[in-house]
Amino acid sequence: MTIVNRIFETLMPKGSSKKPSLDKLLAQFDRELENFQTLVKPAETSKPRTPFDSKNLTFSDMYMSKLTVRQIASVLPIMLPLQVQMRQSARMYDGKFQPRRSTAEPEFFEQLETLARNAGAVDIKYVKVPNNAIFKDKGIPYPYAVVITVEMDKENMSTAPSFEAFREVAKGYGNLARVGNKMARFMRRSGFAAYPGTALGGLTDYTHLAELAGLGAIGYHGLLITPGEGVRLRINTIYTNITNLPIQTENEHYWVRDFCAMCKKCIRACPVKAIYDQPRPRGDGGMQCIDHDDCRDYFNQNFGCAICLASCPFSDIGYEKVKTRFKGNPTAPQFHIPHLP
Ligand code: SF4
Ligand code: SF4
Repeated sequence: MTIVNRIFETLMPKGSSKKPSLDKLLAQFDRELENFQTLVKPAETSKPRTPFDSKNLTFSDMYMSKLTVRQIASVLPIMLPLQVQMRQSARMYDGKFQPRRSTAEPEFFEQLETLARNAGAVDIKYVKVPNNAIFKDKGIPYPYAVVITVEMDKENMSTAPSFEAFREVAKGYGNLARVGNKMARFMRRSGFAAYPGTALGGLTDYTHLAELAGLGAIGYHGLLITPGEGVRLRINTIYTNITNLPIQTENEHYWVRDFCAMCKKCIRACPVKAIYDQPRPRGDGGMQCIDHDDCRDYFNQNFGCAICLASCPFSDIGYEKVKTRFKGNPTAPQFHIPHLP
């Protein structure tokens, strides 16, 4: 047994099979939902959460098994705190917290956003979670959410697929979990219910929520594209009972998909042709951009891949420059995730 396998055995839930399973770890966190008598349920059309595990691969096929001792030493200080933060997020779902209030003053949002930015969030917006963004067989304690993003380093992500890019993604998840927990604790201290997403996995489709919240637009590679960070970001949510969130219903970023319809660089760059030539509107109101079955094995063998992220002009040139140079594309197919009442 390799040292990596030993580490995974320690991190994974008791009773797991010998093959490390991120899906089993996430399912363990999801079980905390059993502490709630009532949950906001998914729509009948909701899709299941995309699995991480590859059925076709053995552990020795996966990049995790091939990490060098130096790489393990470099990534463990990131992975272990991530694991701790995710467990702390899950523990907040113990069903014990009783909110004292459900409406907030403008000053509260200012304080929350300042705290989030100081902790490392680059953007914060708000959304009422539509049932069709809740994954099939999951549920959330409250139908309102704060959506946050954290940035990933440009240079590291430009090397994808690589150990450096994988490490940067892990760092992004760690930051998401840490910031989400910090915000949730502040919200609870202020009397509001707050349940952070677990950064990885989660109960809702974060890109769907982020686009609805107006943070950016989903590109043809299925990732969120925003001003500032382009695609070099990760998303997390905090579910809350605050009914008067400053929700924005306009989204000024839909032009991004008109650009995508001309660009298609990620589609050409994907080594396993997993990105559709055009996103496919889904029955649940969202968009399917990728064949996840085609992506998953390459992803799990190549440091989480991210070639589509690295090849996107929004990662490299940046949002503002792409926007300035773009002259429009009136014939581009239109897909807007609908705001539900
Ligand atoms: S690479 Fe091009 S087509 Fe793909 S998401 Fe980025 S801008 Fe859109
Ligand atoms: S992560 Fe890699 S394999 Fe998956 S869609 Fe992107 S480029 Fe293709």
